[in-house]
Amino acid sequence: MSTVNIAIDGPAGAGKSTIAKMVSAEMGYIYVDTGAMYRAVALYITENNIDDASIENELKNADISLKFVDGSQRVLLGGRDVSELIRTPEISMAASRTSALPAVRAYLFELQKKIARENNVIMDGRDIGTVVLPNADVKIFLTAAAEERASRRYKELAEKPGHPAYEEILKDIIQRDYQDMNRETAPLKQAEDAVLVDTTELTLEQSADAIIKVIKEKI
Ligand code: C5P
Repeated sequence: MSTVNIAIDGPAGAGKSTIAKMVSAEMGYIYVDTGAMYRAVALYITENNIDDASIENELKNADISLKFVDGSQRVLLGGRDVSELIRTPEISMAASRTSALPAVRAYLFELQKKIARENNVIMDGRDIGTVVLPNADVKIFLTAAAEERASRRYKELAEKPGHPAYEEILKDIIQRDYQDMNRETAPLKQAEDAVLVDTTELTLEQSADAIIKVIKEKI
């Protein structure tokens, strides 16, 4: 029996993960956050001081896996749960850099394909509809203006002590967008057959509703 695969791609901070979680709860599919996998690789590379030339070899020992606890994804690196450790601005930037390396992409591509073959999934990332699941049943490209994405992130962080300034967040978002869209291997772009959803003017609930509507029309 074949599985149902839904691909959601888009730039950092468009709301992919929050919305994909809401949709996965509604549909009963598992939500796979591929960005977390790239972040775990970045953590592995950073912690072990691996240089770009040795990555292909070293990744064989990385042992990155996912587990799902009450429907929510945890990322394991060598059996250690690193789901929180990978959420720092340093790892965001490191992931954006190391995700451009073909050896890193090839390694995670295989893992992601396998999960989608074995489960009904909503998978989010940058290249899911274009490269990882080109035959996905539904493809969505979720985006929002960079200023709006930075302002959402700023509000999320504003409560925490020592949070970055809005300008800093915006600068990071613009830099990551640029790196993700301009790399040679699997750059961030809308698949030809993806439905574009721009959430700049939408609330989270409105965005999730719009996406659930697209999905229900297609499957
Ligand atoms: O989605 P998130 O911001 O957690 O992703 C971290 C980084 O991982 C992104 O900036 C991007 O460079 C990379 N990534 C990717 N392809 C994916 C998912 C994430 O290149 N499918």
